[in-house]
Amino acid sequence: MKAPTPRTLLRYAGKCLGLEEYFRDPGDGRPQAMLISRVLREISFHAVEKLVQSSACRAMCVAQTFGDDALGYFTERLDPAVTRAALIDALHRAKRNKAFQEVRFVGLAIDGTTAGRSSNQGCPLCRPRRDAHKEVIGYHHDLATISVVGGGLTLPFDAEPYGPGDSEYAAGQRLLARAVPDLGARFADYLVVDGGYATAPFLHAAGKAGLPVVARLKSNLPELSQAVEKRFGSCPPTHVYRDGKDRVEIWDADDFDPWETLRWTTVRVVRYRQHKPDGSTIQADWLTDLSKRRAGSLSVYHMAKSRWEIENQGFNDAKNRYGFEHTCHHHANSILIVWLITLLAIVMERLYRIRFLHRGTHVACSADQLCLVFRLSLSRPRSPNTG
Ligand SMILES: [Zn+2]
Repeated sequence: MKAPTPRTLLRYAGKCLGLEEYFRDPGDGRPQAMLISRVLREISFHAVEKLVQSSACRAMCVAQTFGDDALGYFTERLDPAVTRAALIDALHRAKRNKAFQEVRFVGLAIDGTTAGRSSNQGCPLCRPRRDAHKEVIGYHHDLATISVVGGGLTLPFDAEPYGPGDSEYAAGQRLLARAVPDLGARFADYLVVDGGYATAPFLHAAGKAGLPVVARLKSNLPELSQAVEKRFGSCPPTHVYRDGKDRVEIWDADDFDPWETLRWTTVRVVRYRQHKPDGSTIQADWLTDLSKRRAGSLSVYHMAKSRWEIENQGFNDAKNRYGFEHTCHHHANSILIVWLITLLAIVMERLYRIRFLHRGTHVACSADQLCLVFRLSLSRPRSPNTG
């Protein structure tokens, strides 16, 4: 196979992920230019403009050049629903192309993060940051995201901002209400969330969307926490497993009483205590409505652990590699559009690198390696100049 180039990535995304129409839609190649810039880790609008002025990139993705002010104007007006739909389409195509074929349980994770700080309030999404004395010391943007997790492919596919007076919990509910029906209830086998989402309304909404939940059990549910401690604290583990070098003790019972507002017949709680070779231990309790027949103790343990993917392969990668925290243009819609385009760049890059390029038995190349190969390909002359 020839060395991968940004052009082959775009061709793959157009043909195999169904993004041809999305690329064509605004007409002048600005989404492609922004996507490729993100994959190449050129973050600012100015860098996107410079990139499209290079001969290699111009031939590849855009018919005309544009100024970086044009990107500001463009992202202010682009409808976020179009990029959201492109992300959902890409996931559907990936599933049809058997990207998750060998995955026993495909999960979704919802979680919140902060991206983009500024000293002044620049847009309606800016939320004040306060010090220990409640004094405002600056502003930042907050958002909840939803990601496919659990199968070696972490694919963050929607973002929901929340500004002042709004909350991560409310943004997470809006994501659940929009993204899960768009994706289709049968796409995933479970939803994994942190303790802040372990509320009756959220669990009922997930149930209505047809998705079983694995949620962290913390002290915000005191009755259930106490009942679990009383039971599990005084009996030996139900199972003991090995996870790599770690020894994992698991307690698992499916007959706890729901709290007053929760309309479940019973609650299943899984506790794990993970012993690391260095002597440290990690213990956590998780509640779920998955039956033991549907998912055994070890499966629920892995589902709980898959929540970390949205932090590590989601937020951390988006911020460290793809400039998620950089505010290109301080305008609420522009910020959302750049977030969504960054997610689409991540989804395209991962499916291309981990599922398309990685056929056969060799080890998949890393995101850093692929980025380097792409950058080198852009500096290579396209054809000998016989001038
Ligand atoms: Zn702002």
